[in-house]
Amino acid sequence: MAGQGDKWPAIGIDLGTTYSCVAVWRRDRVEIIVNDLGNRTTPSHVAFTRKERLVGDAAKNQIARNPDNSVFDAKRLIGRRFSDLLVQNDIKLWPFKVIEGPEDKPIIVVTYKDEEKHFSAEEISSMVLNKMREIAEAYLGTSVKNAVITVPANFNDSQRKATKDAGNIAGLNVMRIINESTAAAIAYGLDEIDIGKKNVLIFDLGGGTVDLSLLTIENGTFKVKAVAGDTHLGGEDFDNRMLEHCVKIFNRQQNEDISGNVRALRRLRTACERAKMILSSANETSIEVDSLYKGIDFYLSITRARFAELNMDLFKKSIELVDKCLTDAKMDKSGIDDIVLIGGSSRIPDLQQLLQDFFDGKQLNKNINPDEAVAYGAAIQAAKLASMGNEKVENIVVLDVTPLSLGVEVGEGEMSVVIPRNTDIPTKMERYYTTRFDDQTSILFPVFEGERARTVDNHQLGEFILSSIPPAPEGVADIKVCFEIDANGILNVSAVEQITGTSCEITITNDKARLPKEEIDRIVEDAEKYKVEDDEHKKGVTAKEALEKYTFKMRNIINDKKIGDKLDTTSKETIEAAIGQAIHWLDGIQLAEVHEFEEKLTQLKLICNPIIQKNGQNDDMMLQNMAPEEDVGQQRKGSSSGNSVFNYMAKVGLNLIPYKKTTKKK
Ligand code: AMP
Repeated sequence: MAGQGDKWPAIGIDLGTTYSCVAVWRRDRVEIIVNDLGNRTTPSHVAFTRKERLVGDAAKNQIARNPDNSVFDAKRLIGRRFSDLLVQNDIKLWPFKVIEGPEDKPIIVVTYKDEEKHFSAEEISSMVLNKMREIAEAYLGTSVKNAVITVPANFNDSQRKATKDAGNIAGLNVMRIINESTAAAIAYGLDEIDIGKKNVLIFDLGGGTVDLSLLTIENGTFKVKAVAGDTHLGGEDFDNRMLEHCVKIFNRQQNEDISGNVRALRRLRTACERAKMILSSANETSIEVDSLYKGIDFYLSITRARFAELNMDLFKKSIELVDKCLTDAKMDKSGIDDIVLIGGSSRIPDLQQLLQDFFDGKQLNKNINPDEAVAYGAAIQAAKLASMGNEKVENIVVLDVTPLSLGVEVGEGEMSVVIPRNTDIPTKMERYYTTRFDDQTSILFPVFEGERARTVDNHQLGEFILSSIPPAPEGVADIKVCFEIDANGILNVSAVEQITGTSCEITITNDKARLPKEEIDRIVEDAEKYKVEDDEHKKGVTAKEALEKYTFKMRNIINDKKIGDKLDTTSKETIEAAIGQAIHWLDGIQLAEVHEFEEKLTQLKLICNPIIQKNGQNDDMMLQNMAPEEDVGQQRKGSSSGNSVFNYMAKVGLNLIPYKKTTKKK
């Protein structure tokens, strides 16, 4: 059995459509972990270039230059089929290409290092998760394996399993998949533990999803009463509406159609998102893009009212879900004690107003950070699962529910529900079925999830066959089908033929939206390969930087009056020629191997260092501008002269700017 040591550290990851956030329980509290740029959230973006793979801010920042190979929104694809209407609609708006893969799986196509590459949504999400893990590792100074990952409450079984797969591909031990709104409720409720019973509605509107949970919180127990949501409604849809509006205006004003120009659309979308955010605090702003298309600038002044009008139907759709959630929980809106806003898009004032009006003017709770609450709650859950929290954390009990009804297809395509939606999980439920024909020896059970009476309107998870049924007249066989949902909300199915006791362990065989095991193994191998390539690229960048730094330092030295004038003409010319040649080489190369940069640096040092050493003679200025730390040590050890520049440097080390050790001398 895994000891506590194996379970810690355990992080909480909010894998968002547009941004992700990672947190950890440490020093008796939750810490939101900042990324390498000091940001508390990281874009869920992955980009591929001729030279490297980028994840997070670096990927998002280059998107306008490289739109075809910059992938985002993987969460909108994960666990879905290519033929899904929502996927088809999204494809029209994305600058990157998505094609139909085996078993109707959507496949993202990019060019990486001049080669066409195919990725599944799981693979892209695993790269984002891996980045979040690296951020945590850099912060904690240790390797991280265990994580709780959040998903929208309305994610179906395939989407949950696919997210878990993405975590496994990223090398994580996914301790638990929890609902985003439940995680936010934990973040909200941790400090509310002692104040009696409260009915709380978590309203979480993010970049791509709206997620609602109605919970009763009492003495550390978080009992989810009902969940509702839309896994395809969020900030990106508001951006799209604004984008469509701008495209129409540009078309009308300039008589130019930019709808097929991915680069122009990407730049315009970024400007729209920025304007949308500003409109949450200002009544008016502008959308401006210089030289948007054929050298024509775009400018549009937009008011908050216009933005709201463009999106009002979407805002209303999210409010209708609140009604559904209350109905499912059999609760009246007057019984809600607190309405907690989560997710970046919940900052939109007109949406807040609609929500407040729905609750007859009740004040909304905006006290918890909408961007961080989900990761915060996930980190608490991770600490609890690793038994590393404080007493409050250890006392937390989360009772979640299943978001969709699960059942099998019977008769002429009717849905026979085994587990109704909003049933507490984990759960195990049974139903009995029989044969339709005489002497039938096997039964096909197609498994579905959804709320519609006919299975064609629901989502098929897979199917299984129970064979070896003893021949008998129709309706005699007695088959017990058992559906079991674990704490992650993931389904397992089993069946037993009751009369003879023939049982069958069932695995859902054609779970089309999911990656097969061999494919996951291949992706894990590829992930290792990409990591090696990324590391190699980083080494290349560091080696190039070392060469550039040395070259520019040498140039500064010979250009400096105080230092350069001490060098004789030949020495100066020799250094000038050497650095000129190095700069020319650096300017001309697109791609080079690490060893090429290292060799160039060694050659340059062999020319420059002896000259400087010979002429430098105890000059403070020269010391401040001089060579790398490693050279100091190397030269100090090797030098027989007591008054060399390098010896002096060692004495006045405080004047030196630390220089990264980048090359190894043989
Ligand atoms: P999340 O998934 O919670 O990180 O939310 C990300 C979404 O929130 C993106 O679509 C952002 O454009 C949106 N967002 C962030 N800040 C604001 C804001 N101040 N006003 C409106 N939308 C925002």
